[in-house]
Amino acid sequence: MSFPLAGNERVRDALTAAIAADRIPHAVLIYGEKGTGRHTLARFLSRAAVCGGENPPCGVCRGCRLAESGAHPDVITALPEAGKKNISVSQIRRIRSEAYVKPHMADRRVFIIDGAGTMNAEAQNALLKVLEEPPGSVVFILIAESAAELLDTVVSRCTAVSLVPPEISEAAEYIGRTSDYGGPRIISALEQTGGNIGAALELLSGGSAAARSAAERFAAYLLAPDEAEMLKITARFEKSRTEADLFLKELKLCVAREARKRASDVAAAKKLISFYGELSRFEESLKININLSLLFCALVCRAAGLNQI
Ligand SMILES: [Zn+2]
Repeated sequence: MSFPLAGNERVRDALTAAIAADRIPHAVLIYGEKGTGRHTLARFLSRAAVCGGENPPCGVCRGCRLAESGAHPDVITALPEAGKKNISVSQIRRIRSEAYVKPHMADRRVFIIDGAGTMNAEAQNALLKVLEEPPGSVVFILIAESAAELLDTVVSRCTAVSLVPPEISEAAEYIGRTSDYGGPRIISALEQTGGNIGAALELLSGGSAAARSAAERFAAYLLAPDEAEMLKITARFEKSRTEADLFLKELKLCVAREARKRASDVAAAKKLISFYGELSRFEESLKININLSLLFCALVCRAAGLNQI
């Protein structure tokens, strides 16, 4: 499996060299803002630590597959317990005693401490004891937003890995390769998040969900038009061509679904199919420099006119 993050070349080079030399550090602190790939990197490292194949993490051996599905007995994750904000000292004490138990099936046991910055000083000092003299077969992976959240003594016992958002072009290539989103939307989301891939993906999926729900509401008016309501729905998509395109695509899906549902009502199905054809033309006109308010006005007129056919 190749290194899973965009950009961050220094981190990539150092960690892939350590993995290839079978020298995964006993304690790694991965820190960076939310959305920079900290959990993705932690999963990659933990798979490498328990992989039984060639070129770890191979991604296909039993160890890799169990780790990927979250079921590997030697990969243990600690998070703040339900209803709590912090990883408690008693959780850390349990981890500490677990760390001296032999691995069940891999060569190592991996302890991921997710939200390491939530540990209070007492919990961090409890962890420090095992970081100072870690059992040979253990890897600790601490995930935090900033190294400053942790005691210097803890940080100094870890190999610190700082993650940063990649260049926008690298981030765009990464999202394009790993998702179904279209290029212009990806760039627009990344520009809003300064290249932060996680935040851009949240924006993209939020945008898709908003467009989908707006399209569903619009489609509900097609056979009983209310022009004022329809214009209200489309107003939010007048600001950006990529958002307008997204709305039209979602609307096409809704209209096609609705037409299938009403196949037995020939008159209604015909109207919907004719409107579907119109939508393709509206999509085409988005490619030329058309005024988006005018485009949506025309769309609503066409929708309202459906019932006069
Ligand atoms: Zn493997």
